[in-house]
Amino acid sequence: MQPIERISIDLSNNCSKACDFCYNGSSPVGQTLWLPNDVIKLVSDCAQNGTKAVSLGGGEPFEYDGLFEIVETIKSLVYVSITSNGIPLLNENTFEKLRKNKPNLLHFTIHNPADSEEIRRTLYLFRKTTRAGIRTGLNFLVSASEIEASRKLVEKLFKMGLNDQQIIFIPRKFSQQPTPEQVAYVAGKEKFQSTYCLSSCMPSPRFCSISWDKKVNFCSYSPSKVPLEGLTYNAIANALQTIIFKKCE
Ligand code: SF4
Ligand code: SF4
Repeated sequence: MQPIERISIDLSNNCSKACDFCYNGSSPVGQTLWLPNDVIKLVSDCAQNGTKAVSLGGGEPFEYDGLFEIVETIKSLVYVSITSNGIPLLNENTFEKLRKNKPNLLHFTIHNPADSEEIRRTLYLFRKTTRAGIRTGLNFLVSASEIEASRKLVEKLFKMGLNDQQIIFIPRKFSQQPTPEQVAYVAGKEKFQSTYCLSSCMPSPRFCSISWDKKVNFCSYSPSKVPLEGLTYNAIANALQTIIFKKCE
């Protein structure tokens, strides 16, 4: 088995935005099973075993108590990225805590190009975090029913000065899944950043997703998750070896 270089951890399935397409079913009454010390212990052991990067998501990570304690501790061990809908950062206290505990990378999600309020808020926060010295990017969800609106928004983002390195195009799953050609059209370029499995189901090597309920898999969307039996790199590796991988559907 290849070394696990990148790990994604869903800190909870609690999120006030409660999108109906959320892959981990997050809601305002979602649960939190991870304690900050659990995350720190696991990441510390993984870093000692060669893991280079950890991304923190959810649920909404900025609604998770203990996020900044985790970032402050693990940042010296691994490259830390956070994916957020941005909404909690409209609170100045939360933003100040972020300013004091900066991750290496922060990505805001854009879910609906037709939602002017979401776009206005996300771009406002994008500028604010960039000014605060935080490397910031966008996860742009591409839905099959919103191809033209998505294309127009991407043109606007490039005109504003965003570049290819700052936008990752995420194809929406299931009934709204775009074709690879539609994602390329939205991106407006032959080369663009997207998920590893854009053209066929192919779990990313050297990667592990750990869900809010402490189950591991090669991909966040795949249903073939198995429980994590300990807070160690070896526990992750052992669990991954038992997986019979299934495609999301
Ligand atoms: S904002 Fe993200 S985490 Fe929250 S419900 Fe929507 S998709 Fe899920
Ligand atoms: S299960 Fe396969 S197709 Fe679905 S997201 Fe994962 S790698 Fe991609």
